[in-house]
Amino acid sequence: MKHDSIWLDGLNFSESPFLDQEIEVDVLIIGGGMTGLSTAYQLIDSKLKVALVEANLIGHGVTSKTTGKLTYLQEDIYSKIKKSRGLDASKSYYLAQREAIFEVQRIIQKHQIECNLSSVSSIAFTNDPKKVSSLKKEAELLRSFGATVEEGNRFPNGKECQYFISVSDTYVFHPLKYLKALKEIIEKSKIQIYERTRIESIDYRKGFYFCKTKQAFVKAKKVVLALHYPYFLFPFVMPGRVTLEKSYVGVLSVDKTYPFSAISVDQPVVSLRYHEDVKKYQFFLYGSHNICQKYNEKENFSPLLDKFSFYDYLWSNIDIITGDSLPYIGLIQDQLFLATGYNTWGMTNGSLAGEILKKQLQGMKTSYDDLFSPKRGVSFKNLLYFPVVFGSNIKAFASGIFFRNKSWYDGRVRFEKREDKDVAIYTDTKGVEHVVLAHCPHVHCNLIFNMEELTWDCPCHGSRFDMDGHCIEGPSNRDIGYKEQEK
Ligand SMILES: Cc1cc2nc3c(=O)[nH]c(=O)nc-3n(C[C@H](O)[C@H](O)[C@H](O)COP(=O)(O)OP(=O)(O)OC[C@H]3O[C@@H](n4cnc5c(N)ncnc54)[C@H](O)[C@@H]3O)c2cc1C
Repeated sequence: MKHDSIWLDGLNFSESPFLDQEIEVDVLIIGGGMTGLSTAYQLIDSKLKVALVEANLIGHGVTSKTTGKLTYLQEDIYSKIKKSRGLDASKSYYLAQREAIFEVQRIIQKHQIECNLSSVSSIAFTNDPKKVSSLKKEAELLRSFGATVEEGNRFPNGKECQYFISVSDTYVFHPLKYLKALKEIIEKSKIQIYERTRIESIDYRKGFYFCKTKQAFVKAKKVVLALHYPYFLFPFVMPGRVTLEKSYVGVLSVDKTYPFSAISVDQPVVSLRYHEDVKKYQFFLYGSHNICQKYNEKENFSPLLDKFSFYDYLWSNIDIITGDSLPYIGLIQDQLFLATGYNTWGMTNGSLAGEILKKQLQGMKTSYDDLFSPKRGVSFKNLLYFPVVFGSNIKAFASGIFFRNKSWYDGRVRFEKREDKDVAIYTDTKGVEHVVLAHCPHVHCNLIFNMEELTWDCPCHGSRFDMDGHCIEGPSNRDIGYKEQEK
């Protein structure tokens, strides 16, 4: 079993250079996932001078761990948006998702991108009799928007559930083959991509952003934060607006694939899809939770591991959940743009962000500006939920102290003081010790070791580090390698 995403297996991206000099651009895109690359792609024909910087390697962030569905049937999201923002908002979101799927399809066709794009039906289902009526309401809502919705209880693979709704004109694909192709297209344009280039700080002075890396800086008129969980946003206060949800995914070999994908509206959430490449695979996502609420990763993975006796690939992934179920895409302050908060639907919304930002960066308006504006008020639900989030953050902050339970780690992890620093030590199966600082550089939360993926995970805001302390996911913008800090 590989404890990593299937999408990264055997896929070689050619590496772009890192930035080692000062540059000046009109637009700097920070982050090379679905959002950043879609935005750069959309700007290829603009008159703007554009650069994209990626802290690690293109596509290796949250996008590398998605299940890769391109669908507008997203659980019961339209009912949720109708409740939080009204019927018109719900319909606009529906139209935006349809548009985004069409755009990805158009790009794939135009450039003949080989990324296992496959047309499937999308299903939202329940096994809870009490949820049938609300799922029926979701179907009615979708029909009122013009969608054709089927109903049933037997999946194309013969399995049954209490009730499902199903739509067509949706797809599954290989997200990283898609991003690899986008990267190659962008590199042939005048847009420059820099990898292994982490922006460590941003200052706004006299109409320019000065974005510093370790070796250099970028002077930019406009900046796009396409970095999933932005570190640089104090006034915006992300924790007051969003929560972080972690989900667990396994992929297993199967004899047959079926042309559908499905997601439940029940708890624990179940999601599945099929994928055919050299072999045939079934994806199985089981369970998700707010990252501040369940810390023992061994326990968190175990319901998924109990479902099948063997997985070829196993991983977890975190996405950002907004209070009103709508993404944040647009201007947040002086020429600083944000795209995030996709509620686990970032294949459509990341691509959509590219289309919207392309226009906004060139001073044009779009019909989605108000709906997705990051400056929109915090929802009432979020205000009510804030004390809960705050409380669970405090708990997560303290969790490392109170729950450093040795049984979580099979005796392979210990915590100690070295030269006045709190360090955490993981001893690998060959007996080699990997020493890191025990706190996340973001807001100093205690880190927890994830024994399945061998990563240090922050239970407060989702930063992740490999066993040697290299930051693989933000919001932290620093590594925690013990030796690294000594330099
Ligand atoms: C389990 C799971 C399954 C999912 N499945 C689906 C699905 O089937 N369909 C769907 O539509 N969506 C799905 N999603 C959601 C989707 O994967 C995400 O919303 C999307 O990938 C986010 O893309 P992104 O480009 O915003 O972020 P990322 O892919 O994380 O890209 C951000 C990039 O910014 C870089 N970065 C961070 N900080 C800096 C810095 N300081 N300087 C430079 N670079 C930096 C990071 O290294 C990273 O590469 C799923 C989510 C989860 C959790």
